[in-house]
Amino acid sequence: MKKLNLNESFISRIWMNPSNYGELRTTEGKVVEVLSYGKPNFDSGADFSDAAVRIDGVLYSGDVEIHCSVKDWKTHNHTKNRKYNKVILNVVMWGEEDEPEAKTTKRTIPTVVLSEFLNKSIHVIWKDLINNPAPSLLLPCSKDIRKLGGETVKAWLNELGMERLKYRADRIKKRLEMPGGEHRTADDKGAWEKVFMEFVFEALGFSKNKEPFMKLAGLLDLQKIKTLCKTLEDFDAVLYGCAGFLTNHRDAYAYRIKSKWSVLQEELRFETMDRSEWNFFRLRPVNFPTLRTAYASGFLFELTKGDLLRRVIYCFKNSPEAVKDLTGILLGIEYSDYWKTHYDFGKESKAEKSAAGQSRAEDVITNVIIPLIYVYSREYRDDDLFVKMKRIYVSEEDRSDNVILKMMKKQLGLKPSSVCESQGVIHLHNFYCSKEKCSECRIGEKVFDRFFVSEAIPETIYS
Ligand code: SF4
Repeated sequence: MKKLNLNESFISRIWMNPSNYGELRTTEGKVVEVLSYGKPNFDSGADFSDAAVRIDGVLYSGDVEIHCSVKDWKTHNHTKNRKYNKVILNVVMWGEEDEPEAKTTKRTIPTVVLSEFLNKSIHVIWKDLINNPAPSLLLPCSKDIRKLGGETVKAWLNELGMERLKYRADRIKKRLEMPGGEHRTADDKGAWEKVFMEFVFEALGFSKNKEPFMKLAGLLDLQKIKTLCKTLEDFDAVLYGCAGFLTNHRDAYAYRIKSKWSVLQEELRFETMDRSEWNFFRLRPVNFPTLRTAYASGFLFELTKGDLLRRVIYCFKNSPEAVKDLTGILLGIEYSDYWKTHYDFGKESKAEKSAAGQSRAEDVITNVIIPLIYVYSREYRDDDLFVKMKRIYVSEEDRSDNVILKMMKKQLGLKPSSVCESQGVIHLHNFYCSKEKCSECRIGEKVFDRFFVSEAIPETIYS
């Protein structure tokens, strides 16, 4: 079986469904019987607490840790971390030839290599999970929704898609008009650039690091940066320095930007963050904030030295294939070579890494550029631009996907045909299904009687 790089929440879901595997054994050949999977832990520490397993007839109760590979116990530094002292079983998807043992400071932890006991392919399990969501993720209307007819649901999703665009545009407008800060007037080019930067930084943070990225953006004075920073490495110095990522790293690149930072900071006097404010926990290296900061630095270089915002607006206005060309502009942003082979200071990656790929670029276009053009075209009364923006939003094919979109699409029984519909699905999930607002939902109005009380589905991934 090919060793896919699976995320731990997917492996957890495989683990929690015993129909996916046969009799389990530890790497030492001892029979494992699961009596209780325990409670999922969304904080730091092991993945499940209060689990109970019987290993070769002996009952153990405590925590269960889930990993993709057997070596992850060591690379995640669990051995000396006291939060892992109660782990009774280490469940990994893939084994290694020369398997390092999972250990605390006092004992060795039994390990199960799940892939050795699966009774179906990973692909089949994945399809099962999407087609049969856990009861906690089932929409209360899911049984009756198909009776409504696709057109009713689609019309509602389009309305919600526009609601979501307006919601995003309002956030941008508020930042633009923020009193007391740099964002004073909509005529000020610097204010537009600052807001553009803030929301692109937020998008680079995904769900786990959007606040720290927003904070970082808030600490940067673009005017000072424009005046003092000349090269891409100057920008790296400012961003990594300000983010608190420059600690005691010894390679040549780290040394150079650290030196540059100490010189530039003499003039800039920016407030700085601490590395502990950033979230690395449960992230794959490709999503590490250190790697995303490289793209943020290249973006900032283009914004201040390459008139990026003007180019984006020009492209949106004039290109017959605006989305394709904007994607090209975003993917064409250069960042330092060091970050093509590293995901953190001193930590090399085996294959060349991309600090922001195609899906991130499309995400920035949908969630930042289109709402920004909405505000810009209203502010400058550019009706042609407004009409073009709306046409793109309602007609452009949407390629984004994530677990919530997959789950919602399956239960609604449709495939969104545009960015607008897809955004409508996310808005429906986040602002109606997750907030128990069935009585305000067009679907709920038709499916339930007015005395129906719904329960919110528990997961929100986008705000
Ligand atoms: S808000 Fe609408 S779509 Fe969501 S669960 Fe309620 S009725 Fe269904």
